[in-house]
Amino acid sequence: MQYLYAAINFLLLGLLIWLVLGKSIKKIFISRREKINAAIDEAENLEYLLESGEQTDADADDRELNASDDNTGCFDAIAEQERQNSCFLYEKQRRIEDAEKRLNEQKHEIMIQARQKSVKVLCERLKSAFREQPYADGIRAKEPALADKILNIISLTPGDMCYLMRHDVLYVTLTSAYPLDPAIVDRIGEKTTAMLDEVGGKPSYWVKVDPELIGGLRLRIGDTVYDCTVENRLYHLERDLVKRPLPQVISAQDIIDDMFEGIEAAEDRVDIYQLGRVLSVSDGICRLDGLADIMYGEVIEFDCGERGMILDIEPDRIGCVVFGKYEHIETMSRVRRIGRIASVPVGDELLGRVVDPLGRAIDGKDRIRGRERRPIEYKAPGIPDRKTVNVPLHTGIKAVDALVPIGRGQRELIIGDRQTGKTAIAIDAIINQKGKNIPCIYVAIGQKESTVAEIRAKLEKYGAMEYTTIVSATASSSASMQYIAPFAGAAMSEYFMYSGRDCLIVYDDLSKHAVAYRELSLLLHRPSGREAYPGDVFYLHSRLLERAARLSPESGGGSVTALPIIETQAGDISSYIPTNVISITDGQIFLETDLFNEGQRPAVNVGLSVSRVGSAAQTPLMKQVSGKLRMELAQYRELNTFAQFGSDLDDSTRKVLDSGVRMMQALRQRRYEPIPDWKQALLIYAVSEGYADGTEPEMIEEFEKKLYSYFENKYPDMVKTLVSGAKMNKSFENRLKAVLKSFAEVG
Ligand code: ATP
Ligand code: MG
Repeated sequence: MQYLYAAINFLLLGLLIWLVLGKSIKKIFISRREKINAAIDEAENLEYLLESGEQTDADADDRELNASDDNTGCFDAIAEQERQNSCFLYEKQRRIEDAEKRLNEQKHEIMIQARQKSVKVLCERLKSAFREQPYADGIRAKEPALADKILNIISLTPGDMCYLMRHDVLYVTLTSAYPLDPAIVDRIGEKTTAMLDEVGGKPSYWVKVDPELIGGLRLRIGDTVYDCTVENRLYHLERDLVKRPLPQVISAQDIIDDMFEGIEAAEDRVDIYQLGRVLSVSDGICRLDGLADIMYGEVIEFDCGERGMILDIEPDRIGCVVFGKYEHIETMSRVRRIGRIASVPVGDELLGRVVDPLGRAIDGKDRIRGRERRPIEYKAPGIPDRKTVNVPLHTGIKAVDALVPIGRGQRELIIGDRQTGKTAIAIDAIINQKGKNIPCIYVAIGQKESTVAEIRAKLEKYGAMEYTTIVSATASSSASMQYIAPFAGAAMSEYFMYSGRDCLIVYDDLSKHAVAYRELSLLLHRPSGREAYPGDVFYLHSRLLERAARLSPESGGGSVTALPIIETQAGDISSYIPTNVISITDGQIFLETDLFNEGQRPAVNVGLSVSRVGSAAQTPLMKQVSGKLRMELAQYRELNTFAQFGSDLDDSTRKVLDSGVRMMQALRQRRYEPIPDWKQALLIYAVSEGYADGTEPEMIEEFEKKLYSYFENKYPDMVKTLVSGAKMNKSFENRLKAVLKSFAEVG
């Protein structure tokens, strides 16, 4: 009995334990089983991935065999495999082509470098050869003739005259490689004295010997140098040889032949140039003296080979910006006028390229060999050369084309706080020019490099890069490069305008340009004015934007449409730079942060945005349908603010508010999806005439899509009339209304 009780107790205890812990034990077992299963799956997956990885690496034929072995009889799998193979082959082909292209570019680059080195060596050899007999004697024998050549052409420059007016004495220095015959020295002295006598001045005449000249004579009158030395000839020879285009078939012999051709072509002439000295150099700005007749915007060359551009001319010193690295420019070193205004290559070769503000390629592709150059600074066309702006330049953005239309040759400012979609509008406008034969130029000033790369990628993706040039002076570029960038872009756009074509240019953005100019001006010690900007910052932007115009047919007939961008701080359009640019341009598209955050994108503020060209830059159709739009939206905005305070609204107010909400929804648009003019006009007409009243505001996007396809599929004849952009006559309008009514009903 005792045993029976013990057994029953034992069983009861076991049952109790099972009841309490059974579930958790089960759980533990199940989770362990799941874990083991998952581990097995993972291992199988890994195995499969390894296999497929190996398969991708194997060549295409092997893959085909494997695939057919593994999937015999499974047509789908074979088709998929074939598709993959063709993709693989296409990719392989593309990579081979890319590699070939890169190889050719590298070969070209190596040859250019090799030529540079050999030209240097050649010139060094020539230098020592000219110092030896019999060349040295030959060159010395030419000295009297060279002196005559120089004396025939010397004259006083306007700069010398100014100097004489202040100082009476002008420095004249005669330098030669060997001591000169006294007769030559006297002859030159007499001639210069006589020349200066005529204008009431005296020379301070110096004669020097400098073996570095190798041979020949150099006469310096004031800052002007008359040079017929061997040193100068070799200097030109070196530059010419390096710049000569490489022959098509490149071999070492080709280069040698080409160099000899260059030597033969080099002429024996007196070179005239002006010299100056570097007084100080800091932060990419140099202060110089000398260079008596230098002009604003002229290019100068430093001894180290770097170049710069004159930005500041004062009576006793000159300020310039350095284009390249300024660290190895030494004070008191020489600078030389090279006799040309700063210019950039222009032409169709630049389309599809990314260039720096000096027109040098920075997209990793081959060099740009523009046949033509245009000066960075150029006079804007005068009033008689201009024609009224009345041809639309469609941006493909509903809110812009309907409310603030832009005409060809117009300057329309895009203004707003940061991250409000300013660049997006400009890029969409560029994308919309596809197939319209309007080359575009996007000038990035002070943007991040990643932003520029992204813009390029997007333009490429939407097929817009082939007709676009990106001029990039990113935030990491020097202030001088950022300063030059929009002017370089303007020069490139002018090429199209003066050759009778229409062109679009975007300056993104001019606030950063103004900051770069402020930096330069402060370094040039110019007095600062309002908000520490120099006084001429208005002139800076006005002379840039005035270059955008529509020319009359007699002056070329082309146009440049400019879309400058300005960033505001907390929506303040009354600060210095925004007010300046607003007054220069023919209207502005004002983008508002609040609207943007509400999801109203593009965030165009209808009240503050204007186009002074107005409906003259719209098609008659758009003009007809969007005539009342601005007024209605203004009314809506006013009532909307007011309606926020009370809920009791009369019917007419509610109606205005409802249609306003729908219209604002209709004006929303995604990026990179420009819409043709006729579709915009159709949508605006449908919404403003109340055919979307039965649609919830959130469904307007859907309504829009359906509307377009409804017309395209069912009424191609009406679409044709709408595409023509002509004004709707009564009968067409009645038919349109009937169709829209049936569309709204079908819904
Ligand atoms: P920043 O001041 O930095 O130059 P921004 O004003 O030029 O900025 P964008 O860079 O054009 O502004 O746009 C800011 C952001 O808004 C981007 O992420 C962009 O994708 C988004 N955005 C702009 N327009 C639209 C749009 N129509 N629809 C949706 N998103 C948009
Ligand atoms: Mg931007």
